[in-house]
Amino acid sequence: MTMLLPRFELHQPATLADAVKLAKTHAGDFDFLSGGTDLLPNYKCGLNAHGHVISLAHIAELKQITRDTIGAGVRIVDIERNADVPRSVAFTAGHIASPLLRESGTLGGNLMLDNRCHFFNQSYFWRHSLGYCLKADGDRCHVVPMINEGGKSVLNNKVCVATHSSDLAPMLIALGAEVTFTGPEGSRTLKLNDFYFGDGIARFERKPGEILVKVGLPKWAHEVRSGYKKLAPRQSIDFPVAGIGIALDLDKGKVKALRVAVGAVDTTPVLFDFSKPAQVKAPASYLLTDPYKNMPDVIGKQLDDALIEQVSKHIQTQCQPKLNVPMEPGYRKKMCGVLTRRLLAELRDGAKS
Ligand SMILES: Cc1cc2nc3c(=O)[nH]c(=O)nc-3n(C[C@H](O)[C@H](O)[C@H](O)COP(=O)(O)OP(=O)(O)OC[C@H]3O[C@@H](n4cnc5c(N)ncnc54)[C@H](O)[C@@H]3O)c2cc1C
Ligand code: SF4
Repeated sequence: MTMLLPRFELHQPATLADAVKLAKTHAGDFDFLSGGTDLLPNYKCGLNAHGHVISLAHIAELKQITRDTIGAGVRIVDIERNADVPRSVAFTAGHIASPLLRESGTLGGNLMLDNRCHFFNQSYFWRHSLGYCLKADGDRCHVVPMINEGGKSVLNNKVCVATHSSDLAPMLIALGAEVTFTGPEGSRTLKLNDFYFGDGIARFERKPGEILVKVGLPKWAHEVRSGYKKLAPRQSIDFPVAGIGIALDLDKGKVKALRVAVGAVDTTPVLFDFSKPAQVKAPASYLLTDPYKNMPDVIGKQLDDALIEQVSKHIQTQCQPKLNVPMEPGYRKKMCGVLTRRLLAELRDGAKS
């Protein structure tokens, strides 16, 4: 079957200010385009396409990369090959998609990519045969058809559980990265973890017309031990179906700080910050992961095998993968524990991968 792009008007601003102006003019009927490796396949499937596409590809302000900041327009391949960013970030970039896709795909697109679901990433005709779904053109969810409301089981026409499938998001969240946006209402900087919130449709708290400008890495990110492990059906091309990013600060073998961010098991990446459990928002729905429920106390304790087992078990217990991307949820849930255990042991024993 031939899949054609729908008609749209392409705008190619050369500055951020012009891009923001265009976003204001076409409010409600546009998408930003960076490398296009996520947006254009979705457009071809008729998924929430708009009449205007504003390309960010010619904006030099988005393409700077230093030790501490990575522009949203920096290509994945340039992060992979950069010697100044933390090695864990370069490693993660090098495990995204395929060499060809990493040449086009960008950091901004990776952090803002749309959530995935077996019932969403399909052609228009395929989705039509099933009556569509909440996330595009329809009014029900095929993954979680019924939900509990006030003790009653009712049709789910509210919560989408499509999976956030970015590799870089969990790694950058574990490292405490910040994101800077600019838009019609001005600029703002916030923690990447605070940006993600909500179900598989909302995904993040973004103001209308905002452009992701850059990602900032704290000094801490260069000092701690960090790494990423990815579960995917194949070693290349495939999206993660579970991804574990860890930042670990040890003092004489004792845990000073531990941040584990899990990707591809929920509607947003999920941060388990073992240092600051009290400050975190509750999940948007009972269908989503609650990282802080029964979180073990690890700060100041020796990171021995028993503690690693405790942390891994907690992550495995709390993660709530759904049956909407490849690989069975029970297996993915178990692998969240397995990958956490392996990565924590590697980081403790010195390897940074
Ligand atoms: C076959 C295949 C395999 C893939 N495998 C992986 C994988 O293993 N891991 C993974 O993480 N990803 C994977 N991807 C997804 C995608 O290729 C990457 O995430 C890539 O980094 C997306 O970047 P892009 O610049 O192409 O995004 P685009 O398609 O240009 O944009 C994606 C979304 O982000 C928005 N956007 C982009 N930049 C900005 C910005 N600066 N400000 C505001 N909004 C912005 C766009 O509006 C759009 O909604 C895969 C894709 C394909 C097709
Ligand atoms: S999880 Fe979201 S994308 Fe998947 S069927 Fe349900 S509403 Fe649609």
